[in-house]
Amino acid sequence: MIINFTKKVRILTGMILTLLIVIGGGVYVYHNKNSVQTLNVEEGKNLNKYIIDVIFDEESKRLMCNQNIEYVNNTNIALDKIYFHIYPNAFSKEEFAPFEKDEMNQAYPNGFNEGYIDIKNVLNNNNKLEYEITGEKNDVLEVNIGRQLKPGEKISIDMKYNVKIPNSEGRFGYGENTINVTNWFPIVCVHDDRGWNLKSYETLGDPFYSETSNFYVKLLIPKKYKLGCTGNIISEKSDSEKVFYEIQAKKVRDFAFVLSDKFKIKKDTYKDVNINTYNLNETLSTEVTKIAKDSIRIFSDLFGEYPYDTYSVIASDFFIGGMEYPTLVMIDQSLYNEKDKFLLEYVIAHETAHQWWYSVIGNDEISEPWLDEALTEYSTVLYFEEKYGKEVGSKLIKTMEIQTRNYSSEDIFKSTTQYKNSIDYSLNVYTKGALAFNEVRNKVGDEVFFETLKEYYNTYMFQNVNGAKFVDLWNKKGIDIDKIISEYK
Ligand SMILES: [Zn+2]
Repeated sequence: MIINFTKKVRILTGMILTLLIVIGGGVYVYHNKNSVQTLNVEEGKNLNKYIIDVIFDEESKRLMCNQNIEYVNNTNIALDKIYFHIYPNAFSKEEFAPFEKDEMNQAYPNGFNEGYIDIKNVLNNNNKLEYEITGEKNDVLEVNIGRQLKPGEKISIDMKYNVKIPNSEGRFGYGENTINVTNWFPIVCVHDDRGWNLKSYETLGDPFYSETSNFYVKLLIPKKYKLGCTGNIISEKSDSEKVFYEIQAKKVRDFAFVLSDKFKIKKDTYKDVNINTYNLNETLSTEVTKIAKDSIRIFSDLFGEYPYDTYSVIASDFFIGGMEYPTLVMIDQSLYNEKDKFLLEYVIAHETAHQWWYSVIGNDEISEPWLDEALTEYSTVLYFEEKYGKEVGSKLIKTMEIQTRNYSSEDIFKSTTQYKNSIDYSLNVYTKGALAFNEVRNKVGDEVFFETLKEYYNTYMFQNVNGAKFVDLWNKKGIDIDKIISEYK
């Protein structure tokens, strides 16, 4: 995610202006760095499979859903319960809503409006399973499977549920222009070496942690809407009123879609990747499509090939700024204006970098937000450096140094819940975090720095990592990344 502070806090407008000034001309030098693509998933690990049938009822803003998940016990212990995040319930009460107090008016321009998930039943082979709704925000579903699921064993679980979409301009909700359907279905919680991860939909940062899975989604929507979604539309049938889509998304860690009757779609390609931009007007659609393509090209070159065949940049009613989901990103529609071209490019580049750091390589975004956000923020600097020249990259770094100096910042390694507010979080994890990565690059040199990031990407593709694994990769090369970063503090 990236937070657009120009909307949020006036005090930071000066910083954004400083950032605007640093972008000038500059000759674009494209470094051709070879990359190796490996589509490995952790050995012996089978992916979970979701099949979801969805009917969208426009009038009630509800999704009527049937879901089947084939869950694979990839842990090394027997499980008698399986947990799911049911994030829509975090929007069921005003006090749960994952927004800061001063954001509530922007999140709910027409006043608070509830969103929730209504679970009708949970079955295994037509037999009812006991379940309980738990979690701080009623956003965790505990399913008792009634037996011991051994390591390596699979279980098929069916669920019937309705989702009410709120009138909200955050990640999940609808506004004047778009219907953002994100973090909407019961998604299995990650069971890692710490056990089940059952954290609620926290306010600060991106509170998500999930496993690479295969998705097959059937979606029935009114014909007037255009659809932007994770993965590929494999078939499309329509009558005079409705369109029925079959969508396949393989090896992704989430599934999101956005609807609008105003989308103007622009298409391009980079190698085998279809680049689609969903714009609310034509004004900047050519520029946005070029930025999307340049981002995919630059990051593929720096870190390793983008492994999917589709990427979508979607203008949305999303007041916060930008948000990443597998193979798609949502960008606040108000950023599409001539005055803020730099900011628009910055946000798109940042969210695109998340396709590498969040989507392909996953992590617990609550406990270790630096792993994806700091690296993504530094990747954004690299995008500008690659596209507009070294000087522009250096100016961005200088601006970041001024920001961290002026707003006393400290530890970049805390969990999202330990930061005071979104400014404190952003200045430490994003800005200071990006500077820490820049310091590592300065210490080890470009060759080792980019070689190690490529190795990181190739080694942990489609898996979840933690800070220890990341640090270990550098340590193996004799680089004490901990020491470099802690000295940088
Ligand atoms: Zn981000």
